[in-house]
Amino acid sequence: MAERTRFIEGTWNCTSCDTRDILARHRSCPSCNNPREETGQESEFDFGDVDASTGKSLREGVTDEKALSAANAGADWFCDYCSASNRGDTPICRHCRAERSSTSRALFEGSEEPLEPQAPPPAPAQPGSRRWLYVGLGILAFFGTCMFWGSRTHGVTGQVTTTEWTRTVHRETFQRVSREGWRGELSTRAPRMPVSGSGEVAGVENIRGCFPRQRGTRQVADGTERVCTTKTRQEKCGTTEKCTRQKMANGYMKETCRDEPKYCGKSYQDCDTRTRYRSEPVFDVSCTYNTYVWQQVDTQVESGRDSSPRWPELRPGVHDRLRREEKYAVHIGYDDGGDKEHVHEPKSEAEFLSWKRGQSVPLQVNNFGSADIVAGDAVR
Ligand SMILES: [Zn+2]
Ligand SMILES: [Zn+2]
Repeated sequence: MAERTRFIEGTWNCTSCDTRDILARHRSCPSCNNPREETGQESEFDFGDVDASTGKSLREGVTDEKALSAANAGADWFCDYCSASNRGDTPICRHCRAERSSTSRALFEGSEEPLEPQAPPPAPAQPGSRRWLYVGLGILAFFGTCMFWGSRTHGVTGQVTTTEWTRTVHRETFQRVSREGWRGELSTRAPRMPVSGSGEVAGVENIRGCFPRQRGTRQVADGTERVCTTKTRQEKCGTTEKCTRQKMANGYMKETCRDEPKYCGKSYQDCDTRTRYRSEPVFDVSCTYNTYVWQQVDTQVESGRDSSPRWPELRPGVHDRLRREEKYAVHIGYDDGGDKEHVHEPKSEAEFLSWKRGQSVPLQVNNFGSADIVAGDAVR
């Protein structure tokens, strides 16, 4: 990559007479003849503005022999006796003729500027989105506090007001039904009737009425299709100029520019040939057959508020069986800023029988108003 080099001449301000923007080539003020010194920022040169995207100086470069020679003369030095600035390549002070000594200070302008123009600062977070973040955090904190408050508990003493039991008996009988099935999955098997509600076999009998029926679908290859999507890739699209600058510590600045490839997003079609599929029905043979299943034929319910749960009377027939369900409830009343009730459901008859009407029950009530029996005390 070809590089282009230019020298940019800086300007300085005279602190003796206040003349401004004096070209660096003048080592003494054209108005008052005061020599340029290190003090009073006289040797802090201004090089003008720079294009933000390329880093290129907006000033013209110097081309005359004299200026180029001054730019390449090295860092200025300041005379120990009269403080005047001198070219880096002259050993004698042009102002007072004193010799440059080992203690003479040289102008120092810091290190080379960054190679690349400054990247734009990261976009500040959108104030809107940040505000919503805070709102979200606030809501979370609010609900967190509520959950904490709600889960706080206090103790009360309740009393058993009612005990309830409900017992249900279902009578089921082993009955012949007709069903449909796929022929390949059916084979004749004799049924067996239950004895005392068990040992039954459902069986498959009298397979009949077979006819083809759709059982499902399958995907079948049906040619190909071309599928295209629009994608973007980075392609070289010309060049862009990038410049770096280096202060020469003598009122001149060296600027080096080169062309770097520029990349642009180009869209293109990404195409692919794919197999196309179509849906095709799949047929099988469906048949009717006989089998036996348990079917509910009767239900009896009995309930009470006493302490002696009973099963309803239901006599099973010869091919029957009985299925039993039991449910218990203990109502515990308590006072918590008003009459409240907690319903406890014992899991077994033994546990139900351990609850007595009028019995005291310690409860834990949380701030949401839900109560729980204090474990290990009344529950066995
Ligand atoms: Zn002056
Ligand atoms: Zn001097």
